[in-house]
Amino acid sequence: MTTKHEQPTVFELSSTGRAGFRFPQPDVPSAELDPALERSDLPMPELSELDVVRHFTLLSELNYAVDLGFYPLGSCTMKYNPKICERTARMPGFSQLHPAQPIETLQGALLLVYEMQDILQKVSGFTAGSLTPAAGAQGEFCGVKMIAAYHADRKNDRRKVMLIPDSAHGTNPASSVMSGFTVKPVPTDARGNIDLDGLRALCNEDLAGIMITNPNTLGLFDENIDQVTGLIHQAGGLVYGDGANMNALLGVVKPAELGFDVLHFNLHKTFATPHGGGGPGAGAVVCTDTLAPFLPGPLAAVLEPATEELPPLYGWKMPEKSIGRVGAFSGHFAVIVRAYTYCLMQGADGMRRIAEHAALNANYLMHALKNAYPLPYDRTCMHEFVLDAKWEDAPGVRALDVAKRLMDYKFHPPTNYFPLIVHEALMIEPTETESKQTLDAFIEAMLAIAREAHEQPELLHGAPFTTPFGRMDEVKAAKDLKLTA
Ligand SMILES: *Cc1c(COP(=O)(O)O)cnc(C)c1O
Repeated sequence: MTTKHEQPTVFELSSTGRAGFRFPQPDVPSAELDPALERSDLPMPELSELDVVRHFTLLSELNYAVDLGFYPLGSCTMKYNPKICERTARMPGFSQLHPAQPIETLQGALLLVYEMQDILQKVSGFTAGSLTPAAGAQGEFCGVKMIAAYHADRKNDRRKVMLIPDSAHGTNPASSVMSGFTVKPVPTDARGNIDLDGLRALCNEDLAGIMITNPNTLGLFDENIDQVTGLIHQAGGLVYGDGANMNALLGVVKPAELGFDVLHFNLHKTFATPHGGGGPGAGAVVCTDTLAPFLPGPLAAVLEPATEELPPLYGWKMPEKSIGRVGAFSGHFAVIVRAYTYCLMQGADGMRRIAEHAALNANYLMHALKNAYPLPYDRTCMHEFVLDAKWEDAPGVRALDVAKRLMDYKFHPPTNYFPLIVHEALMIEPTETESKQTLDAFIEAMLAIAREAHEQPELLHGAPFTTPFGRMDEVKAAKDLKLTA
């Protein structure tokens, strides 16, 4: 690793006697502290307010962020997060609630959760839903657990195989295995669809279901989706939809109408919530009437209908055969507030515009780049597309080199080495919130890097040169993890 940046720690900056805050004189009698709680061996840095503000502001400048520039991270949907969503999430009426308060004092929050369940059902075409899962992966875990519970409820204990296309996100096999399924991969055909012959060969009495991402992680809408869901249902299985990235379908296609039985949304991707650094998120699950009794709880529900004098009373309800709770209380409420704000800002027309612009922006980039970078699946894409950064006349250059070099051009690198079926994958998702000027600047940088790959490949191997830290030894970072100073 090349290091050009040395930021002292707060302990190195510490200066004895310095303080940023002084406690006022107490206006109550002092009390003795339990000596067992006293510690003299706990080092605390001593800093002024200015020291602290500068330290953390400098640290924040080392990070790249969607508030600083374009973030074309495929499959992870890093779009502009409207600041009004932050304002609403911080409103005291939302942020100062405690989930254990009596429900009579939580009616506004419960109404919001209830309406968000309803919005997600309308958008997806399903009739039931739960907002409790804390992330996409947890939503998947719930969905496949619901499929397991459905088969168990029908006393069918043979169905233990979950099919997963080889283009799938890594969380899909992980959720299936955690739920007790055996995973079998389904091949992808030359056009990037699920291979129907390969699928037929796997449909039998052991089949529990399939997990499908559509558009898939190549950014392609499966052209045979009706046949795929039909084959699974004929064989007695159920269809799970990985709806982590629904940007391309909103207001245009309802997954329930494609034959899906259960689907999760990533509110933190599709509906604008900042989610760098691993969270927090919300992996809402929606499903058909058949699977509704198995949903994780609690769900927001009308406990007492409205009367002439009174509005309805909202509260929490556990579905009758629920797979249970997947966290304390009722999910990441502040994420739900942000997503709800975003949905209300859009309205039904706006939802459709999200999908149109997400697909338009991705196709615009794809067409501008496909003569400079190999494009393994060359057809109209949805919200993202995958290039293969591998040139016969520049054999030493890899996707990682292109990704690192982009940092010198002040762009966040796209997702790379995923999906696994494209070896030097660069997975690019511009999102619907970027302007043509930003996309054009990105195209210019990508074309310049493709030229460098041929003319100065050694330059790419050394990149990035302009960031506070140079190229990391990623193997060492993973194998020799040090999380403390
Ligand atoms: C992001 C993503 C997930 C996992 O979501 P998390 O919230 O990160 O757990 C699952 N599937 C796909 C296709 C994704 O893009």
